[in-house]
Amino acid sequence: MNHLQKRIRQLSLTSLLCLAGFSAWGHGVVPNVPQSDRDIHFPNIEGYQTLVLDLHTHSVFSDGHVWPTIRVAEAERDGLDGIAVTEHLEWQPHLLDIPHPDRNRSFEVATLAAEKLDLLIIPGIEITRSDEAGHMNAIFIQDANALVRQREADTYLPAHQFSDAAQAIAFAKAASAGAFSEAHQVEIDGVTVWAPFANKAAYITLVAYDLATTQPAADVLELANGQGAFTFWNHPKFATPQAALGTFHQGQVEAGRLHGVEIANGGRFYENALRLALKHNLTLIGTSDVHNLIDWDYQPETGGHRPVTLAFAAEKSNEAAKEALFSRRTVVWWQNTLIGRPPELTALLQASLKATNPVWKGNTLQVSVVNHSDANFQLRNLSDYSIRRHGPVIEVAPNDTTNITFQIMAGSKDLWVEFEVMNTLVAPNTFATIRFDISAPKE
Ligand SMILES: [Zn+2]
Ligand SMILES: [Zn+2]
Repeated sequence: MNHLQKRIRQLSLTSLLCLAGFSAWGHGVVPNVPQSDRDIHFPNIEGYQTLVLDLHTHSVFSDGHVWPTIRVAEAERDGLDGIAVTEHLEWQPHLLDIPHPDRNRSFEVATLAAEKLDLLIIPGIEITRSDEAGHMNAIFIQDANALVRQREADTYLPAHQFSDAAQAIAFAKAASAGAFSEAHQVEIDGVTVWAPFANKAAYITLVAYDLATTQPAADVLELANGQGAFTFWNHPKFATPQAALGTFHQGQVEAGRLHGVEIANGGRFYENALRLALKHNLTLIGTSDVHNLIDWDYQPETGGHRPVTLAFAAEKSNEAAKEALFSRRTVVWWQNTLIGRPPELTALLQASLKATNPVWKGNTLQVSVVNHSDANFQLRNLSDYSIRRHGPVIEVAPNDTTNITFQIMAGSKDLWVEFEVMNTLVAPNTFATIRFDISAPKE
């Protein structure tokens, strides 16, 4: 090796090392960001820590449009305690550009990105079927690869080279239940085949989906349960607003393999899912199911927020979060509504709203209601006392104090006032209530 060759070798080694250093820091790791107005905040309840979780997210590793690092950064900016990484196992529209045969990769990238943060990264997947089974998440899994049937493009494509248009259309209809009516001639690796799309990428994605979904959804749920996963039904579809659970989901619930259901997903609230969750003892889940950017979907800078699941856990850890979900200790925070079972919702209301500083003046009693949460509470007066200079509904702004003055007889003894909390649900069309006990001043 002459001098010049040595010099070039040294230079390239140096630049490689620089690049390695740069990528370890600059590419994947999300820095801690200070608290901001967009932090989603709810107080801890008696005996438990309140974990703010988004249990359904996507990246380019399935049909999302961002790298997992961005999901982690968004979660940090939203002040979340944890996110689940739940790529579609079978639906991989970016397959040609991002083949990723290792289906744990998205979780690994997110975990690396969160290295410097106090953020739980929960490994998960989304089981994706176009039949009755629909979509279901399995989270706290051990190995995503063991849950999917996949083959390399060059081995599965020859099995799907249709010799005429009718066969290609029939395949597309069976694979996706879509309305395909025409076929195209597509050249793949030098061979011309009939395909339901003019575009090679879409064709390969469809073939991959078809192959992956040859594994029955019930088998994937069983395997996920074997890995200790917590599972839930996503964005449920119902034939009628009061429909019972269908055969598939009822069977999985009875077998103990399906543990929860999304009652909120993105902008949608599923009232029938809430009814069925209460009937069948399922955990209440609310998620973003984000594919694009949280900022585009929810405008957090103007007060919007993604739907989250508040899980009441013994501590901030994946294990404790999982225990809370299996024990159904959750409240869903969707738009301005808190949805939960009475024990958890009541505990959250009691931790969030405190009546303080009673001041008696003549025939009035003023109390200050301090709101320690992000909810904008709508309280409807259920007490016998009317509210001075106000109708029966009081708005209690988030993270603020609201004074309420009751018309009351002077000299009253200890008393209590009760409100219906109109931005809550404990069942379809049923609000939670909160009671404040107020002591009379010492004479
Ligand atoms: Zn889905
Ligand atoms: Zn999804």
